[in-house]
Amino acid sequence: MRRLVAGTGWKMNNGIADSIRYAEELRSRIAGLDTSAIDIYVLPPFTSLATAANAFAGSPVAVGGQNMHWDDSGSWTGEISASMLLETGCRYVELAHSERLQHFGETYEAVRRKVDKAMSVGLIPIVCLGETAQEKADGRADEVLADQLLTSIDGQPDERVPEIILAYEPRWAIGAAEAASPEYVEERHRALRTILRKHCGEEIAERTRIIYGGSVTPENGRDILDIKDVDGLFVGRAAWKPEGFARIVELVSDAAKRKQAA
Ligand code: PEP
Repeated sequence: MRRLVAGTGWKMNNGIADSIRYAEELRSRIAGLDTSAIDIYVLPPFTSLATAANAFAGSPVAVGGQNMHWDDSGSWTGEISASMLLETGCRYVELAHSERLQHFGETYEAVRRKVDKAMSVGLIPIVCLGETAQEKADGRADEVLADQLLTSIDGQPDERVPEIILAYEPRWAIGAAEAASPEYVEERHRALRTILRKHCGEEIAERTRIIYGGSVTPENGRDILDIKDVDGLFVGRAAWKPEGFARIVELVSDAAKRKQAA
């Protein structure tokens, strides 16, 4: 049984004071929920990481970075290393978000190096995978996903792959009016698990978590979570207020119970 995940990336929102307010309110809203069967993360901007890690200490909510560099240290102006993230209290790091690919020229070859470094220091990489609208229209979604996934995990021993969280985030569904349909999500998640099965074997494929992100809301989240190969939700806008994320956490906790009982 894979542990379900509820996560949110704050992008360039929530400075230090807002991070404290968010953490206090989220903690009180989820205090009555049984979240023991799921993993919960928030990804604040770099300058709020240490504050957020402190504010969530002793709660079920872990903190992660939104990016990192693959090198340990050196002349990389403006960059942050994996060990710096660890030092601030991070447990996770997000890699290959579509905005990093689109606006900052991130490549999956760079992502591969970052995955390697993150794993070597004990951070859990959350690797985003997703096709563009054009690639979808050309019928190339699964081919693109296979390429992104296999490049990202290239060089990792198979047994370490389940330590990585894969986030299927179709690039056309991020920041959009609607999420991908449950049928479409089901096909892509099944395709991703098939790629894992083919390259790493059945047991590894069954243990690796693949979460969905892209215009998830408390209203559409339940149908997506009920898909067999969906292991959690990665939410942007709908979780930027603690109230919204608390509803997502509740949905994911409930789905974990349903999946356990099935
Ligand atoms: C995201 O940016 O990863 C994301 C899922 O955003 P939204 O939920 O706002 O589409």
